[in-house]
Amino acid sequence: MTVLAQALEELVTANRILACEGVVDSFGHASIRHPDRPDHYILSRARAPECIEIEDLMEFAADGTPADPRGRKPYAERFIHGAVYEARPDVRAVVHHHSPSVIPFSVTAVRLTPLMHMCAGIGTGIPTWDSRTKFGDTNLLVTTMEMARDLAGALGDRPVALMRGHGAVVAGVSLREVVFNSIYLQLNADLQMKATALGQPMFLSDGEVAAVLRTRSSFTFERAWEGWCHRAGRPYDSRPMEGPLAKV
Ligand SMILES: [Zn+2]
Repeated sequence: MTVLAQALEELVTANRILACEGVVDSFGHASIRHPDRPDHYILSRARAPECIEIEDLMEFAADGTPADPRGRKPYAERFIHGAVYEARPDVRAVVHHHSPSVIPFSVTAVRLTPLMHMCAGIGTGIPTWDSRTKFGDTNLLVTTMEMARDLAGALGDRPVALMRGHGAVVAGVSLREVVFNSIYLQLNADLQMKATALGQPMFLSDGEVAAVLRTRSSFTFERAWEGWCHRAGRPYDSRPMEGPLAKV
């Protein structure tokens, strides 16, 4: 199997996993930087993630122009992905989702902050991007490169940014990493709500977050990915991967 073919299979798997784990419903999407053309990315046509097949995957230029549309309708919010790849040469995979668990943290002053070791990858100081600040009253969807670049600016060099009243964007060096951090972002949000109901949570310190990430091996992602593949009914590919699927 070529690197591209393997990447496409993994992208289908990522969408199915995110749906199976409840991070996305019929909306939200995952993309990879194109393994052969780094100024392009690959993202499904506009379709519910749990239904996505190989033939749904489309190639886009960084500005969101489809390379070979063949009548397929792209996601209106595909610009999010292009803007992040444009701003972050280190990023090789992006997830945009509307996890209901994170929404309360996007509309209040309470900061979503890692409080469990498995969630350290979401990082501290997670920003919230508010579309209204620069673009006024909109339908909140990121449907232009101008909006997407503003969002990418808020993300900066972080792994996660929340989007006020909308959802989140998660960026990373591999598809397995962004899926991992998307799932644990949702879990951290759920745990933070529960802990706050009991009292003031004790969050991970910056040093603890750094220590978790420093000692985390690729096996962590593989162990999680295999389990999620099984649950989503997708084959687990344990072969070493290059490019956008590289293990961390
Ligand atoms: Zn959205």
